[in-house]
Amino acid sequence: MFKAIVIEKDEASYRASVKDLDESQLPEGDVTVRVSHSTLNYKDGLAITGRGPVVRKFPMVPGVDLVGTIEESSDPSYKVGDAVLLNGWGVGEGHWGGLAQKARLKGEWLVPLPPQFAPQQAMAIGTAGYTAMLCVLALERHGVTPEHGEILVTGAAGGVGSVAVSILSKLGYTVVGVTGRMAESEYIKSLGASEVLERSAFSSAGKPLGRERWAGAIDVIGSHTLANVCATTKYRGIVTACGLAGGMDFPATVAPFILRGVALVGIDSVMCPRSERLIAWQRLGTDLDISKLNLITKEIALSEAIPMATRLLDGQVRGRVVVNVNA
Ligand code: NDP
Repeated sequence: MFKAIVIEKDEASYRASVKDLDESQLPEGDVTVRVSHSTLNYKDGLAITGRGPVVRKFPMVPGVDLVGTIEESSDPSYKVGDAVLLNGWGVGEGHWGGLAQKARLKGEWLVPLPPQFAPQQAMAIGTAGYTAMLCVLALERHGVTPEHGEILVTGAAGGVGSVAVSILSKLGYTVVGVTGRMAESEYIKSLGASEVLERSAFSSAGKPLGRERWAGAIDVIGSHTLANVCATTKYRGIVTACGLAGGMDFPATVAPFILRGVALVGIDSVMCPRSERLIAWQRLGTDLDISKLNLITKEIALSEAIPMATRLLDGQVRGRVVVNVNA
Protein backbone atom coordinates (compact mmCIF):
# COMPACT_ATOMS: atom_id res chain seq x y z
CA MET A 1 0.00 0.00 0.00
CA PHE A 2 1.10 3.59 -0.52
CA LYS A 3 -0.34 7.04 0.15
CA ALA A 4 -1.43 9.38 -2.61
CA ILE A 5 -3.61 12.40 -3.17
CA VAL A 6 -6.55 11.19 -5.21
CA ILE A 7 -8.89 13.48 -7.15
CA GLU A 8 -12.36 12.14 -7.75
CA LYS A 9 -15.24 13.66 -9.65
CA ASP A 10 -18.87 12.69 -9.98
CA GLU A 11 -22.10 14.54 -10.57
CA ALA A 12 -22.24 15.63 -6.93
CA SER A 13 -18.71 16.93 -6.38
CA TYR A 14 -15.06 17.37 -7.29
CA ARG A 15 -12.82 16.40 -4.37
CA ALA A 16 -9.22 15.68 -3.43
CA SER A 17 -8.15 13.59 -0.44
CA VAL A 18 -5.21 11.52 0.77
CA LYS A 19 -5.89 7.82 0.28
CA ASP A 20 -4.15 4.48 0.73
CA LEU A 21 -3.78 2.76 -2.63
CA ASP A 22 -2.59 -0.68 -3.62
CA GLU A 23 0.35 -1.02 -5.98
CA SER A 24 -1.83 -3.11 -8.30
CA GLN A 25 -3.84 0.07 -8.98
CA LEU A 26 -0.85 1.88 -10.51
CA PRO A 27 -1.16 2.62 -14.24
CA GLU A 28 0.85 1.00 -17.03
CA GLY A 29 4.51 1.86 -17.35
CA ASP A 30 7.97 0.37 -17.63
CA VAL A 31 9.47 1.90 -14.48
CA THR A 32 8.19 2.10 -10.92
CA VAL A 33 9.55 4.99 -8.88
CA ARG A 34 9.60 5.25 -5.09
CA VAL A 35 8.82 8.96 -4.84
CA SER A 36 10.59 11.01 -2.18
CA HIS A 37 9.32 14.51 -3.01
CA SER A 38 6.93 16.30 -5.32
CA THR A 39 5.92 19.94 -5.51
CA LEU A 40 3.01 22.26 -6.09
CA ASN A 41 2.91 24.15 -9.36
CA TYR A 42 0.10 26.44 -10.50
CA LYS A 43 -1.24 23.57 -12.63
CA ASP A 44 -1.30 21.25 -9.60
CA GLY A 45 -3.33 23.92 -7.82
CA LEU A 46 -5.84 23.93 -10.69
CA ALA A 47 -5.98 20.11 -10.64
CA ILE A 48 -6.47 19.75 -6.87
CA THR A 49 -9.08 22.50 -6.55
CA GLY A 50 -10.82 21.81 -9.87
CA ARG A 51 -10.61 25.53 -10.73
CA GLY A 52 -9.23 24.71 -14.18
CA PRO A 53 -9.91 21.74 -16.48
CA VAL A 54 -6.47 20.18 -15.99
CA VAL A 55 -7.42 16.62 -15.06
CA ARG A 56 -8.45 14.56 -18.07
CA LYS A 57 -9.59 11.36 -16.32
CA PHE A 58 -10.73 10.28 -12.88
CA PRO A 59 -9.70 9.09 -10.37
CA MET A 60 -6.40 10.97 -10.84
CA VAL A 61 -3.30 11.32 -8.72
CA PRO A 62 -2.09 14.91 -9.31
CA GLY A 63 1.52 16.10 -9.33
CA VAL A 64 3.25 17.13 -12.57
CA ASP A 65 6.68 16.74 -10.93
CA LEU A 66 8.38 14.05 -8.90
CA VAL A 67 11.79 12.91 -7.76
CA GLY A 68 12.70 9.50 -6.37
CA THR A 69 14.54 6.24 -6.96
CA ILE A 70 13.83 3.42 -9.37
CA GLU A 71 12.24 0.45 -7.65
CA GLU A 72 11.53 -1.71 -10.72
CA SER A 73 12.51 -1.18 -14.34
CA SER A 74 12.14 -2.99 -17.64
CA ASP A 75 13.68 0.03 -19.40
CA PRO A 76 17.38 -0.73 -20.03
CA SER A 77 18.27 2.95 -19.43
CA TYR A 78 17.40 2.65 -15.72
CA LYS A 79 18.31 0.20 -12.98
CA VAL A 80 17.02 -0.26 -9.45
CA GLY A 81 18.27 2.52 -7.16
CA ASP A 82 18.87 5.16 -9.86
CA ALA A 83 17.83 8.67 -8.78
CA VAL A 84 15.47 10.24 -11.32
CA LEU A 85 13.12 13.15 -11.75
CA LEU A 86 10.13 13.86 -13.94
CA ASN A 87 8.47 17.04 -15.19
CA GLY A 88 5.30 17.10 -17.23
CA TRP A 89 4.49 14.77 -20.16
CA GLY A 90 0.85 14.95 -19.03
CA VAL A 91 1.66 13.24 -15.73
CA GLY A 92 -0.74 14.46 -13.03
CA GLU A 93 -3.23 15.35 -15.79
CA GLY A 94 -3.87 12.16 -17.80
CA HIS A 95 -1.49 9.71 -16.07
CA TRP A 96 -1.13 9.29 -12.29
CA GLY A 97 1.42 11.75 -10.95
CA GLY A 98 3.91 12.64 -8.26
CA LEU A 99 1.78 13.58 -5.23
CA ALA A 100 2.08 9.98 -4.09
CA GLN A 101 4.63 7.66 -2.55
CA LYS A 102 4.84 5.59 -5.75
CA ALA A 103 4.48 6.22 -9.46
CA ARG A 104 4.59 3.98 -12.52
CA LEU A 105 5.80 5.79 -15.63
CA LYS A 106 7.42 5.51 -19.03
CA GLY A 107 11.20 5.43 -18.69
CA GLU A 108 11.54 7.84 -21.60
CA TRP A 109 9.83 10.56 -19.52
CA LEU A 110 12.53 10.50 -16.84
CA VAL A 111 15.63 12.64 -16.44
CA PRO A 112 18.52 11.43 -14.26
CA LEU A 113 18.69 13.57 -11.10
CA PRO A 114 21.55 16.03 -11.77
CA PRO A 115 24.35 15.36 -9.25
CA GLN A 116 24.35 19.01 -8.10
CA PHE A 117 20.91 18.65 -6.56
CA ALA A 118 19.49 16.85 -3.53
CA PRO A 119 15.99 15.49 -4.25
CA GLN A 120 14.32 18.37 -2.35
CA GLN A 121 16.31 20.90 -4.36
CA ALA A 122 15.23 19.32 -7.65
CA MET A 123 11.61 19.74 -6.56
CA ALA A 124 12.26 23.27 -5.29
CA ILE A 125 13.07 23.90 -8.94
CA GLY A 126 10.35 21.62 -10.38
CA THR A 127 8.38 22.43 -13.50
CA ALA A 128 8.25 26.10 -12.49
CA GLY A 129 12.03 26.39 -12.33
CA TYR A 130 12.71 24.26 -15.36
CA THR A 131 10.23 26.44 -17.30
CA ALA A 132 12.05 29.56 -16.08
CA MET A 133 15.24 28.03 -17.49
CA LEU A 134 13.51 27.28 -20.84
CA CYS A 135 12.58 30.97 -20.97
CA VAL A 136 16.16 32.03 -20.27
CA LEU A 137 17.41 29.66 -23.00
CA ALA A 138 14.96 31.31 -25.42
CA LEU A 139 16.31 34.77 -24.53
CA GLU A 140 19.84 33.50 -25.17
CA ARG A 141 18.87 31.89 -28.49
CA HIS A 142 17.51 35.29 -29.52
CA GLY A 143 20.93 36.77 -28.80
CA VAL A 144 20.01 38.79 -25.70
CA THR A 145 23.06 39.41 -23.50
CA PRO A 146 23.31 41.47 -20.28
CA GLU A 147 24.66 44.43 -22.33
CA HIS A 148 21.36 44.70 -24.21
CA GLY A 149 19.55 46.06 -21.15
CA GLU A 150 16.89 45.25 -18.60
CA ILE A 151 14.92 41.99 -18.48
CA LEU A 152 11.39 42.12 -17.09
CA VAL A 153 9.99 39.19 -15.06
CA THR A 154 6.27 39.23 -14.18
CA GLY A 155 4.74 37.29 -11.28
CA ALA A 156 8.13 37.73 -9.67
CA ALA A 157 7.13 36.49 -6.21
CA GLY A 158 5.69 33.26 -7.66
CA GLY A 159 7.43 30.01 -8.61
CA VAL A 160 8.48 30.63 -12.23
CA GLY A 161 9.19 34.27 -11.44
CA SER A 162 11.37 33.64 -8.38
CA VAL A 163 13.56 31.13 -10.20
CA ALA A 164 13.75 33.30 -13.34
CA VAL A 165 14.92 36.32 -11.32
CA SER A 166 17.54 34.15 -9.58
CA ILE A 167 18.94 32.65 -12.79
CA LEU A 168 19.00 35.92 -14.72
CA SER A 169 20.77 37.80 -11.95
CA LYS A 170 23.42 35.07 -11.62
CA LEU A 171 23.98 35.34 -15.39
CA GLY A 172 24.64 39.07 -14.99
CA TYR A 173 21.40 40.49 -16.38
CA THR A 174 19.74 43.55 -14.88
CA VAL A 175 16.36 42.21 -13.76
CA VAL A 176 13.18 44.15 -13.05
CA GLY A 177 10.43 42.23 -11.26
CA VAL A 178 6.68 42.87 -11.41
CA THR A 179 4.53 41.87 -8.47
CA GLY A 180 1.08 42.42 -7.01
CA ARG A 181 2.61 41.98 -3.57
CA MET A 182 4.86 44.99 -3.01
CA ALA A 183 5.41 43.63 0.52
CA GLU A 184 7.57 40.99 -1.22
CA SER A 185 9.80 43.60 -2.90
CA GLU A 186 12.73 42.92 -0.59
CA TYR A 187 12.38 39.18 -1.21
CA ILE A 188 12.43 39.75 -5.00
CA LYS A 189 15.45 42.03 -4.64
CA SER A 190 17.20 39.43 -2.47
CA LEU A 191 16.88 37.04 -5.44
CA GLY A 192 18.69 39.58 -7.60
CA ALA A 193 16.18 42.07 -9.02
CA SER A 194 17.45 45.64 -9.18
CA GLU A 195 13.96 47.14 -9.19
CA VAL A 196 10.43 45.96 -8.45
CA LEU A 197 7.35 47.42 -10.16
CA GLU A 198 3.72 47.27 -9.10
CA ARG A 199 1.50 44.84 -11.03
CA SER A 200 -1.20 47.50 -11.59
CA ALA A 201 1.15 49.35 -13.98
CA PHE A 202 0.69 46.42 -16.43
CA SER A 203 -2.66 44.81 -15.68
CA SER A 204 -5.16 47.05 -17.45
CA ALA A 205 -5.63 47.94 -21.11
CA GLY A 206 -2.71 50.03 -22.40
CA LYS A 207 -1.58 51.68 -25.65
CA PRO A 208 -0.46 49.64 -28.69
CA LEU A 209 3.08 50.96 -28.14
CA GLY A 210 4.76 52.45 -25.08
CA ARG A 211 8.23 53.70 -24.20
CA GLU A 212 10.80 51.06 -25.22
CA ARG A 213 12.40 49.64 -22.10
CA TRP A 214 12.91 45.84 -22.00
CA ALA A 215 15.59 43.97 -23.92
CA GLY A 216 13.71 40.81 -22.99
CA ALA A 217 10.85 39.65 -20.80
CA ILE A 218 9.54 36.52 -19.13
CA ASP A 219 5.79 36.67 -18.68
CA VAL A 220 3.72 34.26 -16.58
CA ILE A 221 0.55 36.40 -16.48
CA GLY A 222 -0.89 36.70 -20.01
CA SER A 223 -3.85 39.01 -20.80
CA HIS A 224 -3.28 42.81 -20.58
CA THR A 225 0.03 42.26 -18.80
CA LEU A 226 1.49 40.34 -21.73
CA ALA A 227 0.12 42.94 -24.17
CA ASN A 228 1.69 45.80 -22.18
CA VAL A 229 4.99 43.95 -21.86
CA CYS A 230 5.13 43.51 -25.66
CA ALA A 231 4.22 47.18 -26.14
CA THR A 232 7.16 48.33 -23.99
CA THR A 233 9.80 45.89 -25.29
CA LYS A 234 12.71 47.45 -27.16
CA TYR A 235 13.30 47.25 -30.89
CA ARG A 236 14.11 43.59 -31.79
CA GLY A 237 13.66 42.46 -28.20
CA ILE A 238 11.99 39.22 -27.14
CA VAL A 239 9.07 38.32 -24.90
CA THR A 240 8.65 34.73 -23.70
CA ALA A 241 5.07 33.82 -22.79
CA CYS A 242 4.67 30.83 -20.51
CA GLY A 243 1.72 31.49 -18.23
CA LEU A 244 -1.87 32.61 -17.77
CA ALA A 245 -2.03 33.53 -14.07
CA GLY A 246 -3.84 36.75 -15.07
CA GLY A 247 -5.90 35.32 -17.92
CA MET A 248 -5.86 33.24 -21.07
CA ASP A 249 -6.67 36.16 -23.38
CA PHE A 250 -4.18 38.30 -25.27
CA PRO A 251 -5.77 41.71 -25.97
CA ALA A 252 -2.88 43.16 -28.00
CA THR A 253 -2.19 44.81 -31.35
CA VAL A 254 0.42 43.70 -33.88
CA ALA A 255 2.25 47.05 -33.52
CA PRO A 256 5.17 45.77 -31.39
CA PHE A 257 5.77 42.92 -33.83
CA ILE A 258 5.54 44.78 -37.14
CA LEU A 259 6.97 48.16 -36.09
CA ARG A 260 9.62 47.09 -33.59
CA GLY A 261 10.39 43.54 -34.70
CA VAL A 262 9.59 42.27 -31.22
CA ALA A 263 9.57 38.45 -31.03
CA LEU A 264 6.90 36.73 -28.98
CA VAL A 265 8.02 33.19 -28.16
CA GLY A 266 5.77 30.60 -26.56
CA ILE A 267 7.27 28.31 -23.95
CA ASP A 268 5.85 24.88 -23.19
CA SER A 269 7.47 22.62 -20.63
CA VAL A 270 5.05 19.69 -20.81
CA MET A 271 5.91 18.20 -24.20
CA CYS A 272 9.33 19.84 -24.54
CA PRO A 273 11.71 17.36 -26.23
CA ARG A 274 14.00 15.39 -23.93
CA SER A 275 17.18 16.82 -25.48
CA GLU A 276 16.15 20.34 -24.48
CA ARG A 277 15.11 19.21 -20.99
CA LEU A 278 18.56 17.73 -20.45
CA ILE A 279 20.13 21.03 -21.48
CA ALA A 280 17.79 22.98 -19.19
CA TRP A 281 18.59 20.76 -16.19
CA GLN A 282 22.30 20.91 -16.92
CA ARG A 283 22.12 24.72 -17.08
CA LEU A 284 20.11 24.82 -13.84
CA GLY A 285 23.02 22.94 -12.29
CA THR A 286 25.44 25.70 -13.23
CA ASP A 287 23.34 28.87 -13.45
CA LEU A 288 21.09 28.75 -10.41
CA ASP A 289 22.53 29.80 -7.09
CA ILE A 290 21.56 26.93 -4.77
CA SER A 291 21.61 29.21 -1.71
CA LYS A 292 18.78 31.20 -3.35
CA LEU A 293 16.69 28.02 -3.53
CA ASN A 294 16.49 28.02 0.27
CA LEU A 295 15.09 31.55 0.20
CA ILE A 296 12.55 30.50 -2.41
CA THR A 297 11.32 27.24 -0.88
CA LYS A 298 9.12 25.92 1.87
CA GLU A 299 8.50 22.21 2.54
CA ILE A 300 5.13 20.67 3.48
CA ALA A 301 3.68 17.20 4.04
CA LEU A 302 1.45 15.37 1.56
CA SER A 303 -1.82 16.14 3.38
CA GLU A 304 -0.92 19.86 3.55
CA ALA A 305 -0.75 20.03 -0.25
CA ILE A 306 -4.56 20.08 -0.52
CA PRO A 307 -5.20 23.31 1.45
CA MET A 308 -1.97 24.82 0.05
CA ALA A 309 -3.34 24.40 -3.51
CA THR A 310 -6.05 26.97 -2.82
CA ARG A 311 -3.55 29.43 -1.31
CA LEU A 312 -1.28 29.01 -4.33
CA LEU A 313 -4.05 29.87 -6.79
CA ASP A 314 -5.03 32.84 -4.64
CA GLY A 315 -1.51 34.22 -5.10
CA GLN A 316 -0.68 33.84 -1.39
CA VAL A 317 2.31 31.52 -1.76
CA ARG A 318 5.78 32.97 -2.13
CA GLY A 319 8.29 31.11 -4.31
CA ARG A 320 8.11 27.33 -4.42
CA VAL A 321 6.48 24.62 -2.32
CA VAL A 322 8.20 21.23 -1.97
CA VAL A 323 6.00 18.32 -0.87
CA ASN A 324 7.62 15.58 1.20
CA VAL A 325 5.31 12.72 0.23
CA ASN A 326 6.58 10.55 3.08
CA ALA A 327 5.85 13.09 5.83
P1 NDP B 1 2.64 30.70 -8.91
O1 NDP B 1 1.27 30.66 -8.37
O2 NDP B 1 3.78 30.23 -8.06
O3 NDP B 1 3.02 32.18 -9.38
C1 NDP B 1 2.15 32.95 -10.15
C2 NDP B 1 2.33 34.39 -9.77
O4 NDP B 1 1.56 35.19 -10.67
C3 NDP B 1 1.79 34.74 -8.39
O5 NDP B 1 2.71 34.46 -7.38
C4 NDP B 1 1.56 36.23 -8.56
O6 NDP B 1 2.83 36.87 -8.50
C5 NDP B 1 1.08 36.34 -9.99
N1 NDP B 1 -0.38 36.34 -10.10
C6 NDP B 1 -1.24 35.45 -9.56
N2 NDP B 1 -2.51 35.75 -9.89
C7 NDP B 1 -2.44 36.86 -10.66
C8 NDP B 1 -3.41 37.68 -11.32
N3 NDP B 1 -4.72 37.40 -11.24
N4 NDP B 1 -2.99 38.74 -12.02
C9 NDP B 1 -1.68 39.01 -12.11
N5 NDP B 1 -0.71 38.30 -11.50
C10 NDP B 1 -1.10 37.23 -10.79
O7 NDP B 1 2.61 29.90 -10.28
P2 NDP B 1 3.81 29.32 -11.17
O8 NDP B 1 4.97 30.23 -11.07
O9 NDP B 1 3.96 27.88 -10.88
O10 NDP B 1 3.19 29.45 -12.62
C11 NDP B 1 2.99 30.75 -13.20
C12 NDP B 1 2.24 30.60 -14.51
O11 NDP B 1 3.05 29.92 -15.44
C13 NDP B 1 0.93 29.83 -14.40
O12 NDP B 1 -0.02 30.40 -15.25
C14 NDP B 1 1.32 28.44 -14.89
O13 NDP B 1 0.22 27.74 -15.41
C15 NDP B 1 2.33 28.80 -15.94
N6 NDP B 1 3.28 27.73 -16.22
C16 NDP B 1 3.42 27.34 -17.51
C17 NDP B 1 4.31 26.38 -17.87
C18 NDP B 1 4.49 26.04 -19.29
O14 NDP B 1 4.99 24.96 -19.59
N7 NDP B 1 4.11 26.92 -20.19
C19 NDP B 1 5.08 25.67 -16.84
C20 NDP B 1 4.96 26.21 -15.50
C21 NDP B 1 4.05 27.20 -15.22
P3 NDP B 1 3.03 38.24 -7.69
O15 NDP B 1 2.44 38.02 -6.34
O16 NDP B 1 4.50 38.45 -7.69
O17 NDP B 1 2.29 39.28 -8.47
